[in-house]
Amino acid sequence: MAGLACAGQLAAAGHRPLVLDKGRGIGGRMATRRVEIAGQACGFDHGAQYFTIRDPEFRMALSPLADAIAPWDDGGSEPRFVGRPGMSSLPKAMAEGIDLRQGVEVLALRRDGSAWLLETKGGLVMARHLVMTMPAPQAARLLGRDHPLVPRLDCVRMAPCLTLMAAFPGAAPRPFLHHSSGTDPLAWIAQDSSKPGRHAGLTCWVAQADPDWSAGHLEEAPDSLVRLMLPLLAKTIGAEPEMALHASAHRWRYARVTTPLGTPCLADEDGTLWLGGDWCLGARVEAAWQSGTALAKALTRHLHAG
Ligand SMILES: Cc1cc2nc3c(=O)[nH]c(=O)nc-3n(C[C@H](O)[C@H](O)[C@H](O)COP(=O)(O)OP(=O)(O)OC[C@H]3O[C@@H](n4cnc5c(N)ncnc54)[C@H](O)[C@@H]3O)c2cc1C
Repeated sequence: MAGLACAGQLAAAGHRPLVLDKGRGIGGRMATRRVEIAGQACGFDHGAQYFTIRDPEFRMALSPLADAIAPWDDGGSEPRFVGRPGMSSLPKAMAEGIDLRQGVEVLALRRDGSAWLLETKGGLVMARHLVMTMPAPQAARLLGRDHPLVPRLDCVRMAPCLTLMAAFPGAAPRPFLHHSSGTDPLAWIAQDSSKPGRHAGLTCWVAQADPDWSAGHLEEAPDSLVRLMLPLLAKTIGAEPEMALHASAHRWRYARVTTPLGTPCLADEDGTLWLGGDWCLGARVEAAWQSGTALAKALTRHLHAG
């Protein structure tokens, strides 16, 4: 979200940004896992569950993308929105017209004269200006301990989240949201198939473990996570684990910002390196958009001034 918001606004200002993303699908943590289950194509939003729109500028930026968004009425007091037909539909729509290379992981960075050299498996990429919008700990690792911006990145804290995706036959009645408190390891359970535009033949659930449980089980294999998490989900929704037609787990090592930086973006002294992402402002899709937008505005100002 931050990278695409930034790239879209740089492109609108007449620049030609190149976006490199190590992910196979577009959207980072705005993710949709597509799975074929019993001959039916199903999707799970296994990252962000929904987003809110509080900033009028965010609302305005989303209006041309209305086809990729739908309200998700879960009975809460604040309107919640989702991508349609999957959460990743919104970043996919934002990526249209942007030069985006997927499956390209930046493995190392270095300065070479006035340029940045990015090492990827497919070769070197050279850039005059570099914007990095991955989670703060990942950006810090690429920059190296000695980089002057790394102490700022070290102040940010992000918690992991282990996520279970499971499908059961038939339709399930509402309510479709469950927030646990206290000792239940599953902090959030949502009936993903109740979101607008989703497949209706099966009931697809997404369950997220709380940060402590996730941290304690972070290195466990996906199969073992399914063995632990599926019975907990089944118990809450009143099903038998054996009835599940599909169950898989995903590890988000840097899922939710718990201590944000408190400023929308960072730049180095000569204005060639720019850093942003949700970790600047908070654990929300909208915060990521705000950071990406702030990056584009600041970088555009810098380029015009130079
Ligand atoms: C389980 C979960 C539930 C959530 N629920 C909600 C919610 O309900 N509501 C809400 O508003 N927010 C929620 N969030 C948070 C929300 O998803 C994030 O705030 C937002 O999507 C972050 O966007 P971003 O652009 O900052 O980072 P990301 O989406 O993480 O994007 C970073 C990108 O950098 C790429 N990358 C990383 N390293 C490299 C590299 N070396 N080379 C190339 N590419 C690289 C990644 O592939 C990724 O695409 C949730 C997150 C998770 C994980």
